[in-house]
Amino acid sequence: MEELPLDFKKMAGELSSFSRILHQKGFAEANGGNLSVRVDGGMILSTPTMMSKGDVTPSDIVLCNMNGEQIYGTRPASSELLSHLAIYKANPQINAVIHSHPPYCCSYAFTNENPFEPLSPESIIWLGKVAIIDFEIPGTPALSEKLTLHSTSTLAFLLRNHGIITCGGTLQEAMWRSEIMERQCLAMHLIVSRGSSPVQLTVAQLELMNLIKSNYIK
Ligand SMILES: [Zn+2]
Repeated sequence: MEELPLDFKKMAGELSSFSRILHQKGFAEANGGNLSVRVDGGMILSTPTMMSKGDVTPSDIVLCNMNGEQIYGTRPASSELLSHLAIYKANPQINAVIHSHPPYCCSYAFTNENPFEPLSPESIIWLGKVAIIDFEIPGTPALSEKLTLHSTSTLAFLLRNHGIITCGGTLQEAMWRSEIMERQCLAMHLIVSRGSSPVQLTVAQLELMNLIKSNYIK
């Protein structure tokens, strides 16, 4: 393919904007992190490999099919495209995937702790249960297999000794999930640093929040 179709160009613009936002937030250092979005015809637009997410422009975006074969792009696709494809294949509701290394999330990913208790309305509504994935080499079939197992029951993953993956129907939703994961890890870090511990929501409060969630997140 010599040029991206017009519809894909618009989405390539959106993808590169979110790529730069991810970098500005400090979630993607050096060439780390990657973003993708599902477009018409079962195709995937992805950020390229070996590039700062702060420098990505629409012309750097790569188009692949669901087998990971590159259809368009001057640069190679993300080295972690296989993980994104596994998630898209497992859950047809997911149209956007963001992988990053937010510092407070990483501080928990690099230990054996799980900071994702349902402590706030945002964590209940947007995160639900976060899947904790034991370390696997990035971009390998072994990691894809583990992601596939959880992709129909969660939209947020903590990757041990690595970072996070968040998903959504749109790039905005996937980005919000990354932000909420990082905010919860920051809050938990501050709570523990003060020698305090979080107040647990009651079962009734959790049930009510889950009811509210089901009213506007399908
Ligand atoms: Zn990574």
